[in-house]
Amino acid sequence: MKFSTITSHAVLAVSLAFTGTFVAVAPAHAAAPMQHKQVPGFYRAMIGDYEVTALHDGSAGIDSSLLHGEPGLIQSLLERSFQNDPKNVSATVQGYLVNTGSKLVLIDTGAGGHWGPPALGKLVQNLKASGYKPEQVDLVLLTHLHADHVGGIYKEGKRVFPNATVMMKKADSDFWLSKEIMAKAPEDAKIFFKVAQDAAAPYIAAGKWKPYEGMDEIVSGIAPYAIPGHTPGHTGYMISSKGQSLLVWGDTAHVLAVQMPHPEIGIAFDSDGATAIKTREDLLVKLAADKTMIAAAHMPFPGLGRIRKADTGTGYDWVPATFLNLK
Ligand SMILES: [Zn+2]
Repeated sequence: MKFSTITSHAVLAVSLAFTGTFVAVAPAHAAAPMQHKQVPGFYRAMIGDYEVTALHDGSAGIDSSLLHGEPGLIQSLLERSFQNDPKNVSATVQGYLVNTGSKLVLIDTGAGGHWGPPALGKLVQNLKASGYKPEQVDLVLLTHLHADHVGGIYKEGKRVFPNATVMMKKADSDFWLSKEIMAKAPEDAKIFFKVAQDAAAPYIAAGKWKPYEGMDEIVSGIAPYAIPGHTPGHTGYMISSKGQSLLVWGDTAHVLAVQMPHPEIGIAFDSDGATAIKTREDLLVKLAADKTMIAAAHMPFPGLGRIRKADTGTGYDWVPATFLNLK
């Protein structure tokens, strides 16, 4: 045996034996301290020539009583997905950064810490971890003006994305920025109006708040996609490049375990519940048929996946994208 192949423990035992003081010595493995840190919250995918980065804003729990359905059915669907606390159903929030090669476009911005538990508001931190800077963002596209989508655009009254134009469907801007509608809203809904108005203010002052009415392409390969019902102007975005496509669907669904098998179950956050349900049912039929990749703000991070008809005959399965290395 060559000396170099002898382990250090063996060397220790032999040397102690030669001195006549051999004692049983346990291997000197120090207890490794736990790290208590998660991986950075970003995930990259390519859609044709476009680089898409999913950015995690945080994970939170929502109360299943917000769902509009038969409580026994909801409970059993949650249990089937190992969600055993109906008051704290796991939910995530994410936005999507699209680098077209000439423009950097952020679709939805997370809560920015303006709403929800402190676990939310990490999107900018994850954007930086992914290699970009907020000042590089040219355009922010919003699916709607709920706080978990618009809250990330401002901090302490200032723009987080100082060089970005912010665009959203005009119907959403008109609704959430209206002081008159806010005054008539239930007390617990006023916070949604306040965050939208506070978020918009510094961009309006800078001439960078640009609601749109049409459905034409906004930048090359990124077009609005009508998904009505959740809010007055709720709109997805279809990203297309080199024959591949990705639909950023905003809040088409919130609770995977319940609304995929039973799309007819709505949620209290919907402005127009009946329209939101009809939209979801119709969209799921289409997406299951054409197998379009989806980027979903509230499906488990990174929220990239497809829809297929469930084997049970009712409803759909969410099929998450597999982790891919990039070349
Ligand atoms: Zn949302």
